[in-house]
Amino acid sequence: MSVAHSLGFPRIGLKRELKTALEKYWRGELSRVDLDACARALRAAHWQLQADAGVQLLPVGDFSYYDHVLDTSFLFGVIPERFVSGVGDHQDTTDLDLYFRAARGRAPTGADAPACEMTKWFDSNYHYIVPEFSKGQTFTLNSERLISQIQEAQALGHKVKPVLLGPVSYLYLGKARDGSNKLELLPKLLLQYQKLIQQLEALKLEWLQLDEPILVLDLDQAWQDAFRYAYKNLQDYKLQLLLATYFGSVKDNLALIKELAVDGLHVDAVRGAADLDAIIEAWPKERVLSLGVVDGRNIWRTDLRAALLPLTKAQQKFNGRVWVASSSSLLHTPVDLDAETRLDPELRSWLAFAKQKTREIAVLSKALNEGVLAVDAELTASDRSVASRRSSTRIHKPAVKARLSAITKADSQRKSAYAKRAVVQHGTLNLPLFPTTTIGSFPQTADIRGLRAGFKKGAITEPEYVSGIKAQIADHVKRQEALDIDVLVHGEAERNDMVEYFGEQLEGFAFTENGWVQSYGSRCVKPPIIYGDVSRPKPITVGWTTYAQSLTNKPLKGMLTGPITILCWSFTRNDLSRKEQAEQIALALRDEVQDLEKAGTRIIQIDEPAIREGLPLKKAEQPAYLDWAVTAFRLCTAGVSDGTQIHTHMCYSEFNEIIDSIAALDADVITIETSRSNMELLEAFEKFSYPNEIGPGVYDIHSPIVPGVAQIEALIEKAAQYIPRERLWINPDCGLKTRQWPETEAALANLVQAAKNLRAKYGRAAAA
Ligand code: GLN
Ligand code: ZN
Repeated sequence: MSVAHSLGFPRIGLKRELKTALEKYWRGELSRVDLDACARALRAAHWQLQADAGVQLLPVGDFSYYDHVLDTSFLFGVIPERFVSGVGDHQDTTDLDLYFRAARGRAPTGADAPACEMTKWFDSNYHYIVPEFSKGQTFTLNSERLISQIQEAQALGHKVKPVLLGPVSYLYLGKARDGSNKLELLPKLLLQYQKLIQQLEALKLEWLQLDEPILVLDLDQAWQDAFRYAYKNLQDYKLQLLLATYFGSVKDNLALIKELAVDGLHVDAVRGAADLDAIIEAWPKERVLSLGVVDGRNIWRTDLRAALLPLTKAQQKFNGRVWVASSSSLLHTPVDLDAETRLDPELRSWLAFAKQKTREIAVLSKALNEGVLAVDAELTASDRSVASRRSSTRIHKPAVKARLSAITKADSQRKSAYAKRAVVQHGTLNLPLFPTTTIGSFPQTADIRGLRAGFKKGAITEPEYVSGIKAQIADHVKRQEALDIDVLVHGEAERNDMVEYFGEQLEGFAFTENGWVQSYGSRCVKPPIIYGDVSRPKPITVGWTTYAQSLTNKPLKGMLTGPITILCWSFTRNDLSRKEQAEQIALALRDEVQDLEKAGTRIIQIDEPAIREGLPLKKAEQPAYLDWAVTAFRLCTAGVSDGTQIHTHMCYSEFNEIIDSIAALDADVITIETSRSNMELLEAFEKFSYPNEIGPGVYDIHSPIVPGVAQIEALIEKAAQYIPRERLWINPDCGLKTRQWPETEAALANLVQAAKNLRAKYGRAAAA
């Protein structure tokens, strides 16, 4: 029999119940008992919902109070010393505060300690807590939490499979801070996995799912050997192993996977669709093959009939051993489409959130078991949705397509090279050496939030809202003039979020009320949905920007979010390539850039903080991405004249490996995060000489600490070892919206003073 199973369900709750409970617990307003009760209720509700949809094998271990990788660390006793000291040497791993201290640096009890590093989970916007290993690392099994959740599900009458991060991916995702070789830890770690499997065998379970998502990456010999070694050591048990991979195709590692003595394999049949035939062909027919045909990373309804093709094909070889699931855990999708009451009905009919996806999984599995006629109604409804989406005028805009097909190479090429543009720009802008600027946003005060919320609710009228925002802009301009900053900004008071704000004003985007997806810990985001061809019905930022410019004689920078960042932080179309979607957004923004220029804006910044995170997981696919991403950026900027200065901004990513693509953006100025890493980024410039102007961030805006004048000067002096002084700007790391005014003003005053000191030292106050 085909089995409908689940790789994992969102934990946060439809109304973000877990977020609320966690944050109350952290503030000391909720007891541990009540927090546990909330978690138990969520787990029970999520199992029931999946069971009701027809999912037969439910996951346990997908729930987490913060992050499933951190759970794995606690499961195996990988807890850095600094969180344990002060609590006595007895490591009580059921102490939830110990867990929260590792996650956040702080918990209701125990001493603060620097939190563990957090980083992106593959190419998703979910962040995991990086395991910290050391040379003498020991592992101890603490399975109480997992086992009690299994028993909890069983007591509710569910058939479950525990879902765990597999040993090789777990090691891969961690860091050995002392430079030791983490692979040497594998034998010791495996002993604990073995012990765990023995404990699970006593629990009347048939399957254990081990997630090894790194099998979709390029793996070198050492990691391939680690897989062979690990699974050899896990093969002699009654408990059957389902090896789960996702976020890409396993084709390149297929020979390796075949060597592993596991009882079943799950593959991502959405991202790996092109390679399914090869997998069906290669995988031994007496084992289970699970096809993740329902997209776990996006919100589109599955084309059930199309999904049945590979499933039926696999069934011919595997008989009843074809399982159906989502491509990855549903963690990356919002909970329930039924909660969206304001979405346009046509658009709504194209969507499926986690709950609807579990139903699709069950329907497909039923089709395999009972034949397509048994699910005829569902297939017909799916066909109708597919047809309506294919032809809807809501999606397809001939004018957008025509414009896209008329793009030429010249459209992404500025008129002159940087050196020539710089002469024109420096002549008109007349900026001093080491010009000072900020990244765009200023503190989002209660006043500002109140204005936006009031306008959204209809509590204040449009004229009231406009004059309220204008007052904020005037205040921001005044403060910047008082600080003597050289290039001003309007402050972004009108923006709730840098992507949502633009999405709301572009055609082709939709927004949900409850479409929350966990980003990290209790933090969730509500990504916009790109559903149709994108265009800009009218100017977006021109009014605010020109108003701000009218208040000052200093140059005021226009601020836009770039095409790649808008793309990366949205749910994207699956009926159009990412490249084409990026180009459409770029063309819409190009119009905005040109309107800003026409309105007299001489400096325009296009933020691309997400450019690095869009990088494909497989090396072979990276050059193509970088190529179209760079082109999209240039498409939106290249229409301006030489005298218009284009800035871009990036932050909080590993930029060193894509440094030549960053240069290829051909922005006149880039402001970039570096202050936290003490200008480490600049080391990339030892080998690569960055050709244009650069503002390495000298103020870590994620910290309330005000940097001193001498410290800022030292950072800039360090930067000057790599970049000629004439091409250096002085600015914070990122936008200031999360800060308060007092520290912001103090920090900016120091920043301006540092610039003045350096100008005095190096001799040029102003060009004229
Ligand atoms: N201009 C944006 C701001 O200042 C940039 C934010 C970002 O880089 N994430 O808020
Ligand atoms: Zn930033």
